[in-house]
Amino acid sequence: MTKYVYLFKEGQASMKNLLGGKGANLAEMSSLGLPVPQGFTVTTEACNKYYHDGKVITQDVVDQIFEALAATEKEFGKKFGDSQNPFLVSVRSGARASMPGMMDTILNLGLTDQAVEGLAKLTDNPRFAYDSYRRFIQMFADVVMEIDKANFEHLLEAMKEAKGVHLDTDLDANDLKELVRQFKVKYEELKGEPFPQDPKVQLIDAITAVFRSWDNPRANTYRMLNHIPYEWGTAVNVQGMVFGNMGQDSGTGVAFSRNPATGEDVLYGEYLFNAQGEDVVAGIRTPKPISELKLDNEALYNEFHDISKKLEKHYRDMQDMEFTIEKGKLYMLQTRNGKRTAQAAVKLAIDLVNEGLLTKEEAILKVEPAQLDSLLHPTFDPKALKAAKPVTQGLAASPGAAYGRVVFTAERASELVKQDKLPVVLVRQETSPEDIEGMVVSAGILTARGGMTSHAAVVARGMGTCCVAGAGEVKVNEAGKFFTVNGHKFNEGDYISIDGSTGYVYGEKIATVEATVSGDFATLMQWADEIRVLKVRTNADTPRDAHQAREFGAEGIGLCRTEHMFFEASRIKAIREMIVAKNLVERQAALAKLLPMQREDFVKLYKEMEGYAVTVRYLDPPLHEFVPHTDEEIQELAKEMKLSFEDLKRTIEDLHETNPMLGHRGVRLSVTYPEIAEMQTRAVIEAAIQVTKEGLTVVPEIMIPLVGEVREFNFVKKIVVQTADKLIKESGLDIKYLVGTMIEIPRAAILADEIAKEAEFFSFGTNDLTQMTFGFSRDDAGKFLPDYYKTKIYESDPFAHIDQKGVGKLMKMGVDLGNQTRPNIKTGICGEHGGDPQSVEFCHAIGLDYVSCSPFRVPIARLAAAHAQIKNPRKK
Ligand code: PEP
Ligand code: MG
Repeated sequence: MTKYVYLFKEGQASMKNLLGGKGANLAEMSSLGLPVPQGFTVTTEACNKYYHDGKVITQDVVDQIFEALAATEKEFGKKFGDSQNPFLVSVRSGARASMPGMMDTILNLGLTDQAVEGLAKLTDNPRFAYDSYRRFIQMFADVVMEIDKANFEHLLEAMKEAKGVHLDTDLDANDLKELVRQFKVKYEELKGEPFPQDPKVQLIDAITAVFRSWDNPRANTYRMLNHIPYEWGTAVNVQGMVFGNMGQDSGTGVAFSRNPATGEDVLYGEYLFNAQGEDVVAGIRTPKPISELKLDNEALYNEFHDISKKLEKHYRDMQDMEFTIEKGKLYMLQTRNGKRTAQAAVKLAIDLVNEGLLTKEEAILKVEPAQLDSLLHPTFDPKALKAAKPVTQGLAASPGAAYGRVVFTAERASELVKQDKLPVVLVRQETSPEDIEGMVVSAGILTARGGMTSHAAVVARGMGTCCVAGAGEVKVNEAGKFFTVNGHKFNEGDYISIDGSTGYVYGEKIATVEATVSGDFATLMQWADEIRVLKVRTNADTPRDAHQAREFGAEGIGLCRTEHMFFEASRIKAIREMIVAKNLVERQAALAKLLPMQREDFVKLYKEMEGYAVTVRYLDPPLHEFVPHTDEEIQELAKEMKLSFEDLKRTIEDLHETNPMLGHRGVRLSVTYPEIAEMQTRAVIEAAIQVTKEGLTVVPEIMIPLVGEVREFNFVKKIVVQTADKLIKESGLDIKYLVGTMIEIPRAAILADEIAKEAEFFSFGTNDLTQMTFGFSRDDAGKFLPDYYKTKIYESDPFAHIDQKGVGKLMKMGVDLGNQTRPNIKTGICGEHGGDPQSVEFCHAIGLDYVSCSPFRVPIARLAAAHAQIKNPRKK
């Protein structure tokens, strides 16, 4: 028979998956001999069984619960519901990972009309007994029965008013007894049945409520954001009550063994005398800082301090603890590794190594790579954020927080910022290359449409600007210069705030705080670099981005999207001329304008990279992103090209593609127009010649995008090699270069062995590979993917985290097949997944040589690569 219930005495720390974090820690504290009120844990397996059985707790599990209850009653020498010596319990949820979205704690369970009398007699304190009972009724109604607690709070307020007092503690036993009566009447009125007088019914109802809360919307959102699988389930902890509200020699508190905001080694927390549970955090009475406990009761303070240090040593981590003092005796109610800010996480990691508690490897694993974001970008001031309510949520497309005045066009953004230097947030349906200059000056970018690999998301990440993308509830009226969202209207110039780390949009100005980077951060990164085997490159298209990435430790460029190099008003015309050219002569004239620009850019990139590899991806513009759309713009371009408006408009219409993402882009352009590949090769090689003459060594890596067939690759490779070799020969220099391909079409992964015969390296373009493997458009999937999360068909966005099962299988196949025909072929990834910690770990596991990501994610990827090597060592 499966064991679904464990006494604290029967468990241990290693059983975290089964007992949940809280349950395992209670068991562990109990075995360390710490003062823990005894109890039992209903396992995560019981939770899964509850769902499997159609949301019921079956009799076999109920029997095990009551058996454990009986054993615990014996331990306390008390009985459930007893009129002389009643046993009361608390009921808490406790998943494997801490889950703030889950159910609140229920205290004082077991109180009934009969038990309350027992409690009053036993403690000789009727006030305390009735206070506990009224709290319990409210909590049970709210948490278990989902009755709004405001119903009860009104009654409490009315009672205080009637008695002319301010504090709950000023009400006497009779007042509270009367309140209990009113609460029960209210309960019956709202619920249609009396408040349960059988404690066993209360207990099973409460445990059911915990299981139910595993599937509530708050929990589901939290789980998705934190990649916690649904199958984990939650455990339930039932613990004998001790009382912090038995008078001035009792109390309750919460404390961290170190400061969780800074990492400083001091006890940090709060406590209240004559209080219970939520009182400390509820904000009704102001708790005292834990340091004052030393003045109030030095012996108790010292005991708690010693326990805190003991636990810290035992768990080798900062602890977050809850305690209760009952009539001068200290009890530990729970402990867990404390949540911390990124700054504290980094300091703690370094300190714990210096204190000899952790090895470097263990310390590195304590810092979540994604957390580093907040060390690199501004965040909202937590105090200001507390009072703010989001008006909507989009995709968390590029981290950081910002406030600014709403603008709807790039031009207006530039204008306003130039005028008064105050921040703006650019709000658009979606962005396109023409918006670049406006995006550069904006504090944040908000789009109504587009996914994690949309133009806005990719470009914002590259620039390190915060971005919320695909906020579908935002209705942009560019002409009217306003947008509406969920009944709110924002005009140009109104302040909004956006958080690119959560996707939240706020209709007001929320202050931000700048990131702080300490020396500890550099030390941690250095340790990570010593450990990792995966190299980290960057996706950078401009010298500015390349410079930033080098500062963050990038070891080369893994993707330079050459079409992005024309994202400037002064340059976009040249590429448009190339796109709409009607014949070879026109196209060559346009290309001749592009050549010097590209050459100059490459020279700068090579110099920024100081000899590290630079991978140049040949032109891959989805054409729809580059041609002008409005008649005005077409008119302008026509004038410049000395064409008639009608003529140009017709050419643009000819270029129209139903799905441009699957259209005439990438290698297909060079197949139709070989002169494009020729021009780009000239630019790459001439720039290399120039910097070689200046004494720098470069080995350019020329990368052909969107290849699905080796003959397609060879067609372009031939042009590249002929052009490059001729230039190198003429220069008389010894310059090496590589010609490789992106693997971003499923067919390329399937035929990677054939392609590797010709291609000297592979770089996985997982944005397109995801798009084409799922058959989801990169730009539109955001519209319906939320339905897939809701129905749990997919648990996370495949454009943000590699779908290891499907897309990952193609990648692994690509690597293995490539190695068959070109042993040790150089492999990397340059899709947006290259900066996502869990995807980095996957890339390490399938043996890639490097990941490449936007500059601001380089430190994250470095740390994630170290995590990968520690968890799953690979030969150096
Ligand atoms: C990709 O498809 O993963 C890629 C890096 O190329 P792009 O995003 O430019 O299509
Ligand atoms: Mg691509």
